[in-house]
Amino acid sequence: MPIYKAPLEDVRFVLDEIVGLDKLSALPGYEDATPELVGQVLEEGAKLCEEVLFPLNQSGDGEGCHFENGEVRTPKGFKEAYSTYIEAGWQGLACDPAYGGQGLPKLVNIMLEEFICSANLSFGMYPGLSLGAYNALAMYGSDELKQRFLPKLVDGTWSGTMCLTEPHCGTDLGIIRTKAVPDGQGGYKITGTKIFISAGEHDLTENILHLVLARLPDAPAGTRGISLFLVPKFMPNADGTPGARNGVACGSIEHKMGIKASSTCVMNFEDATGWLVGEPHKGMRAMFVMMNAARLAVGIQGLGLAEVSYQNAVNYARERLQGRSLSGVKAPDKPADPIIVHPDVRKNLLTARAFTEGARALGALTAYHLDVAEKHADARTRRDADEFVQLMTPIVKALFTDIGFDSANIAVQVHGGHGFIWETGVEQYVRDARICQIYEGTNGIQALDLVGRKLPQDMGRLLRHFFHPVGRDIEAAMEKDELGEFVMPLAKAFAKLQQATALIAQKGLKDPEEAGAAASDYLRLFGLVALGWSWLTMVEKAQAKLAAGEGNAAFYEAKIKTARFYMTKLLPQTNSLFITIAAGAKPLMDLEEAAF
Ligand SMILES: Cc1cc2nc3c(=O)[nH]c(=O)nc-3n(C[C@H](O)[C@H](O)[C@H](O)COP(=O)(O)OP(=O)(O)OC[C@H]3O[C@@H](n4cnc5c(N)ncnc54)[C@H](O)[C@@H]3O)c2cc1C
Repeated sequence: MPIYKAPLEDVRFVLDEIVGLDKLSALPGYEDATPELVGQVLEEGAKLCEEVLFPLNQSGDGEGCHFENGEVRTPKGFKEAYSTYIEAGWQGLACDPAYGGQGLPKLVNIMLEEFICSANLSFGMYPGLSLGAYNALAMYGSDELKQRFLPKLVDGTWSGTMCLTEPHCGTDLGIIRTKAVPDGQGGYKITGTKIFISAGEHDLTENILHLVLARLPDAPAGTRGISLFLVPKFMPNADGTPGARNGVACGSIEHKMGIKASSTCVMNFEDATGWLVGEPHKGMRAMFVMMNAARLAVGIQGLGLAEVSYQNAVNYARERLQGRSLSGVKAPDKPADPIIVHPDVRKNLLTARAFTEGARALGALTAYHLDVAEKHADARTRRDADEFVQLMTPIVKALFTDIGFDSANIAVQVHGGHGFIWETGVEQYVRDARICQIYEGTNGIQALDLVGRKLPQDMGRLLRHFFHPVGRDIEAAMEKDELGEFVMPLAKAFAKLQQATALIAQKGLKDPEEAGAAASDYLRLFGLVALGWSWLTMVEKAQAKLAAGEGNAAFYEAKIKTARFYMTKLLPQTNSLFITIAAGAKPLMDLEEAAF
C-alpha cells in the first residue's frame, strides 16, 4: 500500500527561510497571513490530504470515471470528499473576500496544491480547473458576470473548465473552428466541439461553467481572432439556482493512461448560450491569465507527484532486504541488508529528493513573486515581480513536470518488479505524471516560450530579474569559506548558462531554427541552475541554523548533504547540456524528411 505524509517541516523551512513569511504578511491585504495562521492552515490542509484525499487515490485509479447517458459519475468517495473540501472553504482559500474567498496569499494556496497533487492528482483537477476559471473571470469578466458567477466558483458549488482544444488543434489554437454568433440579446450562441476537456462533465457540483475559446463571425484569422466566452451547463435562474439546460453536452469520456478519476470529456456545444469575457478577438489574452496560473499549477502537480514518489521509494528501500552492503554487513540479524545501503539505490533516492526539495524552494519563491506582483504597494516592484514570474513560468511548468515523471519512474525502479505491479501503487504515479508534461502547453512548447518570447522580451529585461540576483548571491557566497564547495559548481554552471544564452541570442537572431533546436536543452540548463541557486540559499540557511544551535539539527544536516549531492552529482549535467546546445540545429535538420 502506498504511503503519504505532507512534508510540513520542509514546507515550513521554505516558507520561513527561503521566502520569509514576515515579508508576505507585510504585503497590503495579507496582514492576517501571520506565520501562526499559515502554519495552522497548512496543518489542516495536510490532514485533509492525508486522511480524505489520499485514501481515494488508488481506488479512484482502479475504478475510473463512468459515462452513462451523457452523464459522468466520479469514482466512489469523490463526491463526499469534494463536499468535505468545499464545506471547509478550501476552494476559496486564495480568492477575493469580495466574492466569499478567504484572501490568503497565493503562495499558501500553492503549497496546499502540492499536498493535494501528492495525495490525489485526479481529485485536484476539479478544484484546480475551477480556480483557473475564477482567475480568468476575475480579471477579464464584466462586473455583472463576476457578481453572478464568482461566488459560486469560490464556494465550490459550481465548477469551471477550460475549453481550448479541438480535434484538429491543440498547440496551434489559431486554427480553432468553434463559432460564436451574437444572439441579439447581449449574449452569443456557441457551436463547436472541444476535446480533452478536464472536468467537462462530472457529478461533484450542481453546475459547470465552461470558459470556451471561439470565433466571432468577423474574426480575423489566427490567434488574433479568438474570443473567450462563459458558457454554463445550466442557465442560472434569477435567484442563482441552476435553471434550464444549456446547449452543451458531454459526448464521451476518454479511456486514458493516467489521472483516471479525472474526467476527460468531449464537449459538444450546439447553439449554447454564452457571454463574452473580455473584449472581442482578445480571448487569448484572457485565456493566458488562466493558462499562466494553470502552468504554474501543473508544475506543482509535478512537484506533488515527485514528493509522493520519493516518500514511497524511501519507505520501500528501508524495508526491502536484498544483498549485502559492499562495505560490510549492515543488518547482521537479518537475512540481507535493506536496499537503502546500496550506492545505486541511494543515487536514485537522492536524485528524487534533491530535485523535489529544490523544486519546492524554487516554486515557493515564484509563488511569492505572484503575491508581490499583485499586492505590493510600489508599482515598479509589482512589475519586476510579475516579470520574474513570467520568466519562471515555463521553467516551473516543464522542469517540475519532468522531475515529477522522473521521480515516479525512480520510485518504480527502487521497487523493482513490485513497482510494476498495480497494487504497490507507484506505477500509478508514472502514468499520472506523464500527462503533466503534455497539457497546458507541452514541455517542448514551454521551452520555445522561454527562448522565443521570454529571452528576447524587452531586450533581455526579464532575464535580468534572474541573472542579477543569482550573480549577486554567487559573488556573496564566494566570500564565505563554508559555502565554497557549494558555490563553485554553481558559479561554473551559471557561466555555462550565460554562455548558452549569448549563443542562442546570437545564432537565433540569424536563424530561428537554431533557437528552436536549442530550446529544450536550454530550459533544462536554466532550470538546473535555478535549482542550484535554491540549494545555495538553503545550504546557507541550514548552516546558519546549525551554527546558532536552533531547530532540528538532523533536518539541517540532511539539507546540507542533499545540497552536496545536488551540486556534485546533478548540477554538472549543465556541461553536457551546453555541449548539446552548442552543436546547433544542423544535426537535427540535416536528415531529409523522406528519410525518417
Ligand atoms: C488528460 C488530458 C487533459 C486535458 N485537459 C484539457 C483541458 O482541460 N482543456 C483543454 O483545452 N485541453 C486539454 N487537454 C489538451 C492538451 O492541452 C493538449 O493535448 C496539448 O496542448 C497538446 O496538444 P495536442 O494534443 O493537439 O498536440 P499537438 O499540438 O498536435 O502536438 C504534438 C507534438 O508536436 C509538438 N509541437 C506542436 N507544435 C509545435 C511547434 N510549433 N513547435 C515545436 N513542436 C510542436 C508538441 O510539443 C507535441 O510534442 C488535455 C489533454 C489530455 C490528454
